[in-house]
Amino acid sequence: MPLVAVYDTKPYDRDYLGPAATAAGFTCRFHEFRLNADNAALAQGADAVCIFVNDQADRPTLERLAAVGVRHIALRCAGYNQIDLTAARELGLTVTRVPAYSPHAVAEHSIALLLALIRKIPRAHNRVRELNFSLAGLVGFDLYGKTAGIIGTGQIGRLTAQILRGFGMRVLACDPAPDGTWAATHEIAYVELNELLYSSDIISLHLPLTPSTHHLINPQTIALMKPASVLVNTSRGRLIDTAALIAALKSGQIGGVALDVYEEEAGVFFEDLSGGVLADDELSRLLTFPNVLITSHQAFLTHEALTEIARVTAENLRRIAGREPATSGTCI
Ligand code: NAD
Repeated sequence: MPLVAVYDTKPYDRDYLGPAATAAGFTCRFHEFRLNADNAALAQGADAVCIFVNDQADRPTLERLAAVGVRHIALRCAGYNQIDLTAARELGLTVTRVPAYSPHAVAEHSIALLLALIRKIPRAHNRVRELNFSLAGLVGFDLYGKTAGIIGTGQIGRLTAQILRGFGMRVLACDPAPDGTWAATHEIAYVELNELLYSSDIISLHLPLTPSTHHLINPQTIALMKPASVLVNTSRGRLIDTAALIAALKSGQIGGVALDVYEEEAGVFFEDLSGGVLADDELSRLLTFPNVLITSHQAFLTHEALTEIARVTAENLRRIAGREPATSGTCI
């Protein structure tokens, strides 16, 4: 039976991926640690490795995987900024991903974060549990009638925009590949990035991390934002310059931030560090702001999304092992 070495696994990965991979004819070797060049040799004997968002599939790692006989890198996520695709191609490694497992899961989490932040739900919940039923300091604001800016109108950005339209918001969008028909159907206006930044009360990021989008939110773009606007990021942490974000929170230029991703999340997010000391000073600082809400990269974590990730990953493993063409859109 072919073997797949699965890196950076948690119990839910084993619960969902294990049975799907077995049904596809694979044996899984689950590792809790993340893939890097130092542990790539542990994939010895595996036909494929399966990795997630914070594994490190750079050139040295891929060279070691290829040297021990791995032929397929199966990403169990949509984003692929963690892998050196040029190196993979040169080494003859096939790379597959799960392009769309549940865009609804991520769009709905973006909205959950936004509402919880602007209506101060975590603070209110903590208070009520302490039998403090005071409303002092809990004043929020309506989304109705405000302007939302969606940066990136792929699958997740479009759904997020549509939900925000449902709140009666005016929605602006920007994307180098605009979808005019969709925008017209939902009465959404495509504008240039600068116009989106200075017109929006809420800005939500739904674009991939690439060299050109790295630190898209930086001192210059923050300066263009409407004072006290709210920023939501469920895409990739490195889209935001964290130092600039902290400065903008301190000055009040940014009025609130909801994050499911963080620039230096690798090694922190997904882990229980509650018994230790948090070494990351910028994350520690972010956690002190009352107007910052952070979840630990959990937007994808729904039953439906995990089921689909396992199904598509197992299908990718089966097809590549059987030398069948990958399902459209999964091979990168
Ligand atoms: P997608 O490929 O469907 O859409 C991305 C869109 O961004 C495309 O329309 C593209 O044209 C646009 N884009 C690219 N560069 C841009 C730029 N400079 N400015 C504006 N738009 C730009 O991707 P998706 O499935 O909607 O995913 C969006 C993001 O969500 C990705 O970064 C992905 O990694 C992230 N994601 C996060 C989670 C999570 O659990 N937090 C889960 C899934 C996906």
